[in-house]
Amino acid sequence: IVSKLPDVGTSIFSVMSQLAAECGAINLAQGFPDYDPPQVLSEALARHATTPGHQQYAPMPGLLRLREQISLKTALLYGITPPDPATEITVTSGATEALYAVLAAVVRPGDEVLVLEPAYDLYGPAIRLQGGVPVYVPLRLPDFRPDWDLVAAALTPRTRLVLLNSPHNPSGAVLTALDLRTLAALLENTATLVLSDEVYEHMVFDGQPHRSALQEPVLAERSFVLSSFGKTYHATGWKVGYCIAPPLLTAEVRRVHQFLTFAVSTPTQHALADVLPDTGLYTALPAFYQRKRDLFVELLRPTRFELLPAPGAYFQLARYHQISQEDDVTFARRLTREAGVAVVPVSAFYHDGRDQGLIRFCFAKQEETLAAAAARLAAL
Ligand code: PMP
Ligand code: GLN
Repeated sequence: IVSKLPDVGTSIFSVMSQLAAECGAINLAQGFPDYDPPQVLSEALARHATTPGHQQYAPMPGLLRLREQISLKTALLYGITPPDPATEITVTSGATEALYAVLAAVVRPGDEVLVLEPAYDLYGPAIRLQGGVPVYVPLRLPDFRPDWDLVAAALTPRTRLVLLNSPHNPSGAVLTALDLRTLAALLENTATLVLSDEVYEHMVFDGQPHRSALQEPVLAERSFVLSSFGKTYHATGWKVGYCIAPPLLTAEVRRVHQFLTFAVSTPTQHALADVLPDTGLYTALPAFYQRKRDLFVELLRPTRFELLPAPGAYFQLARYHQISQEDDVTFARRLTREAGVAVVPVSAFYHDGRDQGLIRFCFAKQEETLAAAAARLAAL
């Protein structure tokens, strides 16, 4: 068979989780918590899983009561006019489906899509499957901030979409209001759209706010903004996310969504709609994750890893040059097998596999897990 993605192997997250399982390593590679969703949410799901009438297809755009809650939450958090649940919000099977649906809906053969690199591994392949051309703009190390002059230079009349991800996977970098204003100025008076992947919106530390593309009017009118209940409720396995976009853009996303998954699990949507009004469940997250980051940084202090700033998301990047001169893939595999701690090599986030001598730890783990991992790393 002639592959449509001949250069793409199995996702690094699957590869490292499988290796971790084979080696009995502590898995700080794939991003997922080793603790459960809030009990009220699990109980709500148990209830709805046996509620007559909640077992068949949900409406294609998502349960209306869930979309209404998403609208209220978004307006409250970002101080904006509530997005219209009828025409501006679509519930998807994780942010993953939303990303794919948006790209399939808007990227035409030959269209350019600007991607800041390093980038989440699905962006490039999903763009290419539409016949699109990813145009990669490097983020600046060590803080992984965008160089807006490079972005400006990469924009062309063929740029269909700019892909943003803040807080950023894998670095945790966070875009500021000024960043969003700068991009807005570049895109005003163009037909270029924005896909803003904000799945880590509740994980921003050190008193900084998360700035959403929804808060910058020039961006909001051309943006698809994505989030994921998997991240917000420690429920990555539930696979529920959503896309907020103006009516004309939402209509295009739904054209694809209806033929991609059609609708998302009904009892799960009911359970999420039940707990969404409890603002405490997400307003506690920045402090909850900052504590984990700070603990992990403290635990790694005696090691020979050099830690980079980690202002958001649930990832910590580290240089390992004092321990090894190996490339990051070789080092990550050896760390998993020999030290018993699985991590992700950052080259997996570069389309050309560029080795920056960096690995990514996920610190969405119980304190005991982080301590056990640090004890193993201290021996290196
Ligand atoms: N975007 C980014 C940046 C992510 O890190 C993830 C989670 N791996 C996703 C999208 C996918 O989210 P979901 O699990 O809701 O499909
Ligand atoms: N987003 C998660 C990460 O970056 C993994 C998601 C996945 O396994 N596809 O680790």
